[in-house]
Amino acid sequence: MWRSNGLPHEHEIQAWDRESYQLWLRSCVRPSAQDKLTVTTPPKGSSITGVPMRLFWTGPHEFIPDGPESIWYAPHVQNFRVLEPAELPRPFVCGAIHDGIAINTNFYLISLVSTIRALGGRIIRASLPREGGLAQAIMAAEEIVQSDKGGGIQEQHQHPVDLFVNATGLGARTLVPDSDVYPIRGQTVTVRGEAKNITTMFYPGVNASITPRVGSGVSVLGSTYQAGNWDRNPDPQVTRTILERCKALGPELLNDDGEFDVVSVDVAFRPGRRGGPRVELEEIVIDGATEDGSEIRTRVVCHEYGHAGGGYQNSFGSARKVVELVNSWFRQENNVDRARL
Ligand SMILES: Cc1cc2nc3c(=O)[nH]c(=O)nc-3n(C[C@H](O)[C@H](O)[C@H](O)COP(=O)(O)OP(=O)(O)OC[C@H]3O[C@@H](n4cnc5c(N)ncnc54)[C@H](O)[C@@H]3O)c2cc1C
Repeated sequence: MWRSNGLPHEHEIQAWDRESYQLWLRSCVRPSAQDKLTVTTPPKGSSITGVPMRLFWTGPHEFIPDGPESIWYAPHVQNFRVLEPAELPRPFVCGAIHDGIAINTNFYLISLVSTIRALGGRIIRASLPREGGLAQAIMAAEEIVQSDKGGGIQEQHQHPVDLFVNATGLGARTLVPDSDVYPIRGQTVTVRGEAKNITTMFYPGVNASITPRVGSGVSVLGSTYQAGNWDRNPDPQVTRTILERCKALGPELLNDDGEFDVVSVDVAFRPGRRGGPRVELEEIVIDGATEDGSEIRTRVVCHEYGHAGGGYQNSFGSARKVVELVNSWFRQENNVDRARL
């Protein structure tokens, strides 16, 4: 779903999230005559759908220093409205609603892969070594690309790899290595049925949320946000809390017994990073000397990791920054107009 996690001072993240919202909104929502959100019924396989987003708080929260109207994106999302006291279920003290975006990530990732292929990109799957530092991983990646026979890369370029983009998420912790990278554990419960709204309930500690996976016949209830927790096993108590908190706000998902039909309970890890996402260039010394001791070999890497719980909504803006960094490097170093990305 789109729900910015940007704090009031995090202007770059806000800009990234704003860009995705506008882009996705244009691709899924048609304003009706009353300028209200029209929830479109997407064709099967469609990945981005306009769905109303409801936000509820049980008390003060860092996202809303002066009430729901002070959330940074209030002026930037369509049809934002603070809820009236009569519209607030217990135990919530304030809330807001706006036109939201539901992403069916299964379909979305498949469509991204198709786009890459349609643009002439090739996808090579391989595991890079994590123990020898970035230089070793880069050398391994270069070797893999050079030995790949499928794409005619060697015919196209005299130097097969001009520059690397490191988007290894949580893997950057060991691959770079970057000790600021840490896991943020999220436990979710997938249930049968598609919710009519995206709903986020901000409780102290564990939030709760309901997100329809439109086109798949299920909704995802979530989610914990446990920094530094590597436990892959679902916690039954957390599952109970999530189900209990979501019951009142997703009645359309309940069966005749008033319960959710649970499809699965899952645990995943957001790639957190102290200091926020790292999107910058780095020159890596591959080795200090060739055989005759005369040359220092370097490679350039553009890092693009550490997006925590916002990797989808950060994606367009932060990828644009990568392209700008890469293009400026090409201009400076190689006197080439544009990177072949
Ligand atoms: C429960 C939960 C809910 C979320 N909800 C949202 C949401 O509503 N909106 C949103 O925007 N975001 C959400 N996120 C966050 C989002 O999923 C992440 O921010 C995003 O997936 C990060 O993308 P990434 O490509 O940077 O990293 P990843 O998706 O982690 O991809 C990194 C890739 O690098 C590969 N890799 C790592 N190391 C190596 C290696 N040594 N060799 C080869 N490959 C390697 C990995 O296999 C992986 O494929 C959620 C996350 C969770 C867990």
